[in-house]
Amino acid sequence: MSDSHPVPPPKSILILGSGVFGLSTAYSLATNPSFQDTKITLLDRFPFLAPDAASIDSSRIVRADYADLAYASLAHEAQVKWRTGEYGEGVYNETGLALVVAKAGREGETDGSGNGELGREYMRKSLENVQNLGMRVGTKEDGADITVLENRAQIESITTCGGGSGDFGYANWRSGWADAEKAMARLHRLVEETGRVERKQGEVRRLLFSSADATDKVEGAELIDGSFLRADLTVLATGAWTPKFLDLRGIASATGQILAYTELSQEEQDRLGKNPTLLNESTGMFIIPPQGRVLKVARHGYGYANPTTISNPEKPGETITVSLPRTKQDDPNLGIAEEGLQACRKALREMIPELGDRPFTYTRICWYTDTANGDWIVSYHPRYQGLFVATGGSGHAFKFLPVVGDQIVECILGKTPEAFKNKWSFPQRGAEDQVWTEDWRGGKRGMILDEELKRGSKISEKL
Ligand SMILES: Cc1cc2nc3c(=O)[nH]c(=O)nc-3n(C[C@H](O)[C@H](O)[C@H](O)COP(=O)(O)OP(=O)(O)OC[C@H]3O[C@@H](n4cnc5c(N)ncnc54)[C@H](O)[C@@H]3O)c2cc1C
Repeated sequence: MSDSHPVPPPKSILILGSGVFGLSTAYSLATNPSFQDTKITLLDRFPFLAPDAASIDSSRIVRADYADLAYASLAHEAQVKWRTGEYGEGVYNETGLALVVAKAGREGETDGSGNGELGREYMRKSLENVQNLGMRVGTKEDGADITVLENRAQIESITTCGGGSGDFGYANWRSGWADAEKAMARLHRLVEETGRVERKQGEVRRLLFSSADATDKVEGAELIDGSFLRADLTVLATGAWTPKFLDLRGIASATGQILAYTELSQEEQDRLGKNPTLLNESTGMFIIPPQGRVLKVARHGYGYANPTTISNPEKPGETITVSLPRTKQDDPNLGIAEEGLQACRKALREMIPELGDRPFTYTRICWYTDTANGDWIVSYHPRYQGLFVATGGSGHAFKFLPVVGDQIVECILGKTPEAFKNKWSFPQRGAEDQVWTEDWRGGKRGMILDEELKRGSKISEKL
């Protein structure tokens, strides 16, 4: 199948996974007249939305601040929709975003992890791109969209808590954050209201290849209860679990990212809730303003690999080792590793000093589907007819919720947008089986989940 020739709409489409990629695809298909005669089925292992899906959390940053103009422009388009309030009252909050970095040579202060120059480069290009998109530089008081922050004192001056991070950067007052779970719940309702999508609960065991040796065609999926779902087109959107269903060695890997949550008083919520998100692109550490008296500290990092040996989904009889998610659904006692906890503690002390010693009451490992350079995979599979892959969020797809479904549907119709033709095509296999994304990441490259957990881990500092 080609991504550049018109493709007639299939009679039936089975979407596997109802995160950002799967749910938005279902909605766009259901509302697109080209698919009015297509039977659409959406399957997930959970009845509503998976509690351990990457798309479900208290908050996700929504920004057009991308070093790449194509993603910046698409995010800008998404923001217009976020602002209309179509996702409901209070779901999107435009409190600004401060992107900050360490000066060259000062990465040591960020514990030597991360990739300093990439972070600085990303920040500079993002600033250029948001200006290319028409945003104006100046002071917040004068109504400018962007304020350049030349030093630490200026960074600290834009928060209500005297904290800060990094040495320089800029604040974008037209960026914000969304309540991820509420936005997904709203889209879920919109999908139901179309009356066009059959929603099924079940866990995929494997893709249904047309022959036992997984040759030319995918005809649907086999579920773990032994039943089969068949369709003319299968859309694989199972997020970080996708390497279970295709041999994605050297193409996409699950990487575990750390989150730590702490509780606030109402007075703290009211005060800190108005702050911009603080994102340090040298350490990867970020704090989104709290909501519901809960504050989250997180890291955009290389993440942990969780090497798991499975039967090769494309070559029965052979085993392969790939990184797959491990979540609280697999192990309710799964905490975050000591190194991650320390990184969150350090970031909290620096960014909100008054909360520096407040215990973390909950932690979570949330899984990215990482590709080599952070581009998504939104493409027909180069080998298997009847299979379309929509994944590879690489830690940045949530903000596109209002627009990504339409983009995916265009790609299904063979009309991949020009700006994304190379970015979203099915990637060539890289040299290493495990993919570690090189965008701007904090933490150390190459960490293995079990090795880090063995050095100590915690679900909560209160227990
Ligand atoms: C910690 C963290 C922070 C992030 N921060 C941001 C941010 O600030 N801004 C931003 O834009 N993006 C952010 N992202 C990225 C964004 O959340 C993801 O790119 C996006 O949610 C990925 O969506 P998805 O549909 O690929 O995966 P998911 O949301 O994980 O959905 C996959 C679905 O597949 C289902 N599934 C899996 N296996 C099976 C099976 N065997 N059978 C049936 N169903 C199955 C799962 O249940 C799940 O519902 C962040 C991600 C993480 C993890």
